[in-house]
Amino acid sequence: MLLCDFHIHTSYSDGSVDLRRTIDLFGQAGFDVIAITDHVVNEETPHGKIANRFGFSVREDNFSAYLNHIREEAKRAWDKYGLLVLPGVEITKSSLSSDQSAHVLLIDIKTFVSATWDFEKIFLEAKKQDALIIACHPHHSSQLMVIDTLFLWNNREKYARYIDAWEIANRDDVFNVISLKRYPYIAGSDFHRARHLYSWKTMLNCEKEIGAIKQCIRYNRGVAITLFRNGVPF
Ligand code: ZN
Ligand code: ZN
Repeated sequence: MLLCDFHIHTSYSDGSVDLRRTIDLFGQAGFDVIAITDHVVNEETPHGKIANRFGFSVREDNFSAYLNHIREEAKRAWDKYGLLVLPGVEITKSSLSSDQSAHVLLIDIKTFVSATWDFEKIFLEAKKQDALIIACHPHHSSQLMVIDTLFLWNNREKYARYIDAWEIANRDDVFNVISLKRYPYIAGSDFHRARHLYSWKTMLNCEKEIGAIKQCIRYNRGVAITLFRNGVPF
C-alpha cells in the first residue's frame, strides 16, 4: 500500500520547515505520496489580517510562484525518492467562534481559490478544477489554544455532498464521529515542524498516480490509517 500524507505546511505559510527540506524529510522516511497544503487565509477577519501581515498565508499574488516551486520540487522528489508530490492549499476560515470556523484541503489545485469566498463557491470552483476536497480536523481537537473548526460538521447535511473525505485523524487526534457517520475518511499530520512527521497517516491500495489516488479516496475503498512512528521512541 502507498504511505501518504495529505496535510503538510511549509514556510510558505506557518510551517517551520522550508519546502525543499520538507520534501527531503518525507522522501527519506520512505513516503510514496504527499500533498503540500499551505494555508490560504481569509483576509477579511482579524485572524486573517494578522496571518497575511506576518506571511503565514499564501496569497493570490504569490500563488503561481508557490505552485511552480511545488512543481519543480515534485520533479526532484520523483527522480530522487519515487515520491509523488501534489500541490494543494488549506482554505482557512478561522474566527473566534468554533461554530463559524472551518478548514478545507484542496488537493491537486490549479488556480487560486480565495478563503473569502463562501463555501459553496469554494467547493464549486474546486470541483471545476477536479481538486480533492477534504474537511480538516472537523471536530473537537485535543490541541490547547486552538479554536475548534466545527462549521462543516455542524452543517454537514448541507455540505457533505461536496466533501470527498473527512480527516478521521489529524496528527495525534482521532475523530470518532466520522466513523459513526460512515463518512469517507483519510488521515494526515497537519505537519508544521519536523517532529510532526510522526503522526497519523493514510495508506492507499492503488497505483502511485494522481487519477488513481483521487478515485481511491473518493470511493474510499482500499483506504487505511496508520500511526507512523517508524521506531522513534516516545
Ligand atoms: Zn487547519
Ligand atoms: Zn493544517
